[in-house]
Amino acid sequence: MTNKLLKFVEKAEDDILPVLKALEPTITKNHSKILTGFRNQEITDSNFQGSTGYGYGDVGREKLDSLYAEIFRSEAALVRANFISGTHTIWKTILGVVNPGEEIISVTGTPYDTLRSIFASRDFNEKWGLNYREIPLNKKGTPEIDSIAKSLSPTTKLAFIQRSKGYQDRRSLTVKEIGNIVRQIKHTNPDIICLVDNCYGEFVEEREPIEAGADLIAGSLIKNPGGGISPSGGYVAGREHLIEKIAEALNAPGLGTSMGATLTDPRILFQGLFLSPRVVAEALKGAIFTSRLFELLGFEVSPRYDEYRTDIVQAVKLGRPETLECFSELIQYSSPIDSQVKPEPALLPGYEEEIIMAAGTFVQGASIEFSADAPLKSPYWIYIQGGLSYEYVKLSIVNIAQELINKGLLRLAWQGGNS
Ligand SMILES: *Cc1c(COP(=O)(O)O)cnc(C)c1O
Repeated sequence: MTNKLLKFVEKAEDDILPVLKALEPTITKNHSKILTGFRNQEITDSNFQGSTGYGYGDVGREKLDSLYAEIFRSEAALVRANFISGTHTIWKTILGVVNPGEEIISVTGTPYDTLRSIFASRDFNEKWGLNYREIPLNKKGTPEIDSIAKSLSPTTKLAFIQRSKGYQDRRSLTVKEIGNIVRQIKHTNPDIICLVDNCYGEFVEEREPIEAGADLIAGSLIKNPGGGISPSGGYVAGREHLIEKIAEALNAPGLGTSMGATLTDPRILFQGLFLSPRVVAEALKGAIFTSRLFELLGFEVSPRYDEYRTDIVQAVKLGRPETLECFSELIQYSSPIDSQVKPEPALLPGYEEEIIMAAGTFVQGASIEFSADAPLKSPYWIYIQGGLSYEYVKLSIVNIAQELINKGLLRLAWQGGNS
């Protein structure tokens, strides 16, 4: 690193110190919540044996479900390594609780790309008998609470609320804001099921959306709650009668929550959850550093380093395709795995635009590990998330800044006051 860049890095680290310090009470509180859960559920090492065949009497599987249920303050939970991804988990959740002829309404605008592809497919209604509508976000990129209540119809069965911004130019929704939306919906019709896509949000705040009134939350185990070590999986938590229906949608009618062999080493799922608040904290620290450094370097960032956070995603507006490509390549190059690979923009299943994805991860595609994704479109926002250690994120980000300077894609102009 040149001395010139060093000055920026030192200023960024100084500026973020109080912000990092302010994260500590939440990290401790979430650790405490999880530790208490392990104690209350009396987890023992015989719960780590797994099971075969039908998986009857799999105490470890049952305990993992009740542990998640307790930690998310819900009646029940379904945690399974054979949920392929967040998308799979959310889709099975919807299929489990919405009946033909009923309507799903996304109240946070267009949902995450892979879900948008499901709902936008031409034969969606014909094939599943479900209706889908979305309420656009307002100009500020937030849901218009009044218009939500007005848009509900007598056939609306499920309201979909996405906590994290995904690849959108909008703010992520805090648990408090989610609570306001849920209250409006329930005020109009208490029977509407409020499902929160909790991806990237777990353990960033002290409360989770169930505590704000949501009926169901769902997420991926190769993001936050897997603690960086879960090899696959997803979870859904919420009302008990709904969880049973979702398990039947995943398995078969009659084969609900009490069946299914655990073939994955269950210890990793437990231990990943235990480590999750720490790993989320490392990712947050990395995101906060990235935000401040790139802001000092003259880029627009979202959120800013000292803004309240509800997820681990950090967006940086790179402005030019060359900068985006260079940035992605260097994230890949700084990774422990597949550092020799050059990321190429591609059309991926479930995504409508070309996306460039950089991730050199131990678990394939795990975005709680340091990774970046960007749709190839102006103004070239890149969405960065994860990082199993702060030091690793910092090393990569500083290296990226230096390379952008070396390649003439970034010119340093000190805006940090007296030096
Ligand atoms: C990651 C993510 C999903 C699900 O993505 P998968 O790759 O299927 O796990 C859904 N919604 C949001 C907001 C996400 O960040």
